[in-house]
Amino acid sequence: KQRDPHHEHFHQAAHSLLDSAAGPLAEQGSAFDDDALMTRLLEPERIMIFRVPWVDDQGHSRVNRGFRVQMNGALGPYKGGLRFHPSVNLDVLSFLALEQTFKNALTGLPLGAGKGGADFDPKGRSDAEIMRFCQAFMTEFHHHMGEDTDVPAGDMGVGPREVGYLFGMYRKLSRTHTGAFTGKQPAFGGSLLRVEATGYGLIYFLGNMLAQGGDRLDGKTVAISGAGNVARHALEKALEQGARVISLSDSQGTVEVPEGFTEAMLEAVAEIKAGGGRVADLAERFDDVRYHEGERPWGLRCDIALPCATQNELDEDDAGRLVDNGCAWVAEGANMPCTAGAVKRLREGGVVFGPGKAANAGGVAVSGLEMGQNSRREFWSEDEVDERLRAIMARIHRRCVAHGGDGERPDYLVGADLAGYLRVADAMAGQGIL
Ligand code: NDP
Repeated sequence: KQRDPHHEHFHQAAHSLLDSAAGPLAEQGSAFDDDALMTRLLEPERIMIFRVPWVDDQGHSRVNRGFRVQMNGALGPYKGGLRFHPSVNLDVLSFLALEQTFKNALTGLPLGAGKGGADFDPKGRSDAEIMRFCQAFMTEFHHHMGEDTDVPAGDMGVGPREVGYLFGMYRKLSRTHTGAFTGKQPAFGGSLLRVEATGYGLIYFLGNMLAQGGDRLDGKTVAISGAGNVARHALEKALEQGARVISLSDSQGTVEVPEGFTEAMLEAVAEIKAGGGRVADLAERFDDVRYHEGERPWGLRCDIALPCATQNELDEDDAGRLVDNGCAWVAEGANMPCTAGAVKRLREGGVVFGPGKAANAGGVAVSGLEMGQNSRREFWSEDEVDERLRAIMARIHRRCVAHGGDGERPDYLVGADLAGYLRVADAMAGQGIL
């Protein structure tokens, strides 16, 4: 706090970790209950900040700020996405990189952790502008990455198109075609199911949470926020498993479908978002869709809530409404979508809470599988990737339960933090003070 007094998001993530890990570690008399190790773990190994100059379609020169936080390399190459969004700053990326450290450790794969991006707003930019921006970003960033050093991927504002432009420039500058980037299109080394993996993985993890209490997703009412990659693929998989999904949202408002989303509606959302539209447009296409301008979905009556949009999108009041309306499970598709107050309120209200570092790890898990396929020069079928993804999400669930209690209602937050911490701490301790 003294070093970075304004890094509120980072403090929030670090406090959550310290709150959940410190007590149980002391109780277990763990060899890793070590302040010095925790202090090192909270300090990024390296941070890069760089100028990204580019030229817009009108011929004006523009400048954005690029970042990469290389948080922890104890378990493998730094691994984590790039985010292009006006809200990107060092605080947001540091919190994301910290979360990534535990998430990557939980997958059991040999992945270190990092996070990066730029305060660039892709909204309303032409394809040519996006390409020029990606190339400009890579002109600097290619010095700092590589298949054995730092392997970036997409995040908000960076989808398969952007990854293609970024990877293409990296390939040109490095004169190598390696697995130094994940989230590539399958046409040039990407893994099948990478695009779907975070949303699908969320539903697989949720399935494990429900099964732990002897329950299942079929027939449950689910509220989802967001309308991007994670939200849409979570919706798709939830529909496939018989849930009634009643909402999606974006930064402008929420669409509610009391009878439940249909596949036709889901396809329409994908089309609207690809064209730069708003979820509100869905209400113009389907009679049974209601639009709530400026609202979030958390006032709707549901059994399960899946926040899949952005950080701190579900606050304490929202959590109170969910509890009062009988919501019994919350699993985070986005990174830290629930504020600290919300998490407290949900847990006090008896809601089973699945933190993002466990529940949304499916994306980075399939990125890890993409790295494996690239280095072996292999290309796995969709079924093979899906089977591995299910197995990884089940393994993460087992690790959470092992440390968070194995009853019907484990404490997944404590379980995820402890399991992740112990794996990273073990690797750090074994490598000396670095
Ligand atoms: P996208 O950019 O595809 O979608 C983000 C969605 O969130 C959009 O619908 C956007 O609305 C909405 N949104 C953004 N800001 C706000 C806000 N302030 N209030 C309400 N809605 C908002 O991103 P992803 O789906 O890829 O990522 C979503 C979250 O999941 C992020 O936290 C990300 O870090 C996390 N995540 C993503 C992974 C992945 O594989 N993609 C992996 C693991 C975690 P609008 O269209 O109006 O901007």
